[in-house]
Amino acid sequence: MARVLSGMQPTGRLHIGHYLGVLNNYNHLQNEHECFFMVANLHSLTAFYSDYSQIQSFIEPLVSDWLAAGIDPEKAVIFLQSDVPEHSELSTILSMYTPVSWLTRNPTYKEKQENIDKDIDSHGFLGYPVLQAADILLYQASLVPIGEDQLPHLELTREIARRFNHYNRKGEQDVFKIPDAALSNFPKVLGTDGRKMSKSYANTLILSEPEEEITKKMRQMKTDTARVRRDDPGNPENCPVFTYYDFFAPELKSNVDKECRTAAIGCKDCKAQLLEKMQPRLEPFREKRAETLAKPDLIPEILNHGAKAARETAKNTMAQVKEFMGMKTYSSL
Ligand code: SF4
Repeated sequence: MARVLSGMQPTGRLHIGHYLGVLNNYNHLQNEHECFFMVANLHSLTAFYSDYSQIQSFIEPLVSDWLAAGIDPEKAVIFLQSDVPEHSELSTILSMYTPVSWLTRNPTYKEKQENIDKDIDSHGFLGYPVLQAADILLYQASLVPIGEDQLPHLELTREIARRFNHYNRKGEQDVFKIPDAALSNFPKVLGTDGRKMSKSYANTLILSEPEEEITKKMRQMKTDTARVRRDDPGNPENCPVFTYYDFFAPELKSNVDKECRTAAIGCKDCKAQLLEKMQPRLEPFREKRAETLAKPDLIPEILNHGAKAARETAKNTMAQVKEFMGMKTYSSL
């Protein structure tokens, strides 16, 4: 059984794109592997350092979304990153093994610097791939579920691990396992405006939104812009609504394709029939989430239990790291 580490930042409410991608994937992984799912609050600090209360307000709702989507604390360890101080400790040590040039050439660093209109030009932001490496290596994770675009990040973790191993080898023995990517083909879910669904575009369908709100947003969702009048034939390939049939009603797809092209169906009816299929899929999520939130102690207990389990593993790794380095511990704490 492989060990898996994955995390999500608590920076907003989860949307349908997360549900169909990351959460679905977590559901499969927890049945097949030993999983550590982390609420990555320290990573969120790179952008929200001026007001931690925002991050705090998203932590428990994030975990309630996980539970509602079927993530099971009996199967996976669910914990908050800052509850395991070894993340910061290992990150400090690994940062000494990481040349600055490895960080400045990180494509996400450049891209975010150019595209985010917040002052994120901090030491922590430049060094966040080192914290990411610590997250993974602390659990000796052998598999890291990522999309193709995140491969350079994982490669950086692998390079840092190799460099540390190189300087701290004991005979043939290395401290860190070199993790592999578990490449996930996350579906590209489009938002109501036809662009990729993303909080920053304000085009999301939020998982925890009431049924009426989802219906309202779907009714306003962009369709094939060339289809101006009801009797204009449409092209489903240019319609974001049509992509939802893949996820929620694949059995109706070929019919809709035909009816759209011949103007036998109007967009209003097309959306209504899709919603009939979508809402029953989202309803159990909403119910389970409401049940979870009705028990205010549940999530703190899960996170407390998860932190204990995560720390046990993290402490073992840190003991090994120090032993291999020859870093003697004088404290008995
Ligand atoms: S009929 Fe359906 S698939 Fe065709 S343009 Fe309208 S919403 Fe899109």
